[in-house]
Amino acid sequence: MYNIKADLHTHTVNSGHGYSTIDELARTASDRGLKMIAITEHGPNMPGGPHKYYFSNMSILPAEIYGVRILKGIEANILDRGKLDLSKERLKSLDFVAAGLHFNTGHNLINKKDYTNATIEAIKNPLVHMITHPANIYYPLDIEKVVKAASLYDVILELNASSFHPFKKQSRGSVNLTTRLCKLAKQYGVRLSLNSDAHFHTQVGKIQHLSPILKKAEIDNEDLINTSIEKIETFLFPNKVRKISV
Ligand SMILES: [Zn+2]
Ligand SMILES: [Zn+2]
Repeated sequence: MYNIKADLHTHTVNSGHGYSTIDELARTASDRGLKMIAITEHGPNMPGGPHKYYFSNMSILPAEIYGVRILKGIEANILDRGKLDLSKERLKSLDFVAAGLHFNTGHNLINKKDYTNATIEAIKNPLVHMITHPANIYYPLDIEKVVKAASLYDVILELNASSFHPFKKQSRGSVNLTTRLCKLAKQYGVRLSLNSDAHFHTQVGKIQHLSPILKKAEIDNEDLINTSIEKIETFLFPNKVRKISV
């Protein structure tokens, strides 16, 4: 079983289709022994998503809740030519910037080439730390090109557990795509993060749906950045590594 210390992809009621609060996510994370969560609401282009002001005001949140470090983040929407739906200034004010392709967010991307190019442009954005659910049947990517770009620009690629949630109506997970992503990421030395993409607090840190697939793909704890708080902090804040006892 994977021993993750941080969940770098979670949503609250503020995303418009999440069902828990930040307090509830933090409490469950604490109960499960997690040391860090990233609050990554969808960007403003998501129907029902938070207004851009929401992200500027995240600095008022405490650094820790119930002993869990809170990273103020976003899951920005990747739009045409890899543009994101939040200004550079607002993205800069956050601890953690994830980005992914989503329906109904105003992009005009229609095929694999478009999705791949837009994702690579997002990877090139120096403010982006992680690409969410790159192994997605609804937005198929040229995964080798994306992995190569992630390696070159040192961006995390996500292994998204919610894509395999058995109760999810639209399951975007693919065993083949995920296995290929794992193999290529190992080959090119790309950082991987195994996250819940929780939209309800009981899902925080729940990555079991994906574990057997990753095991088969020979992914170990050492291949995942979020099995170590120190690894995450060194990556996100290279100039001020803060020691957290784990
Ligand atoms: Zn997403
Ligand atoms: Zn998400």
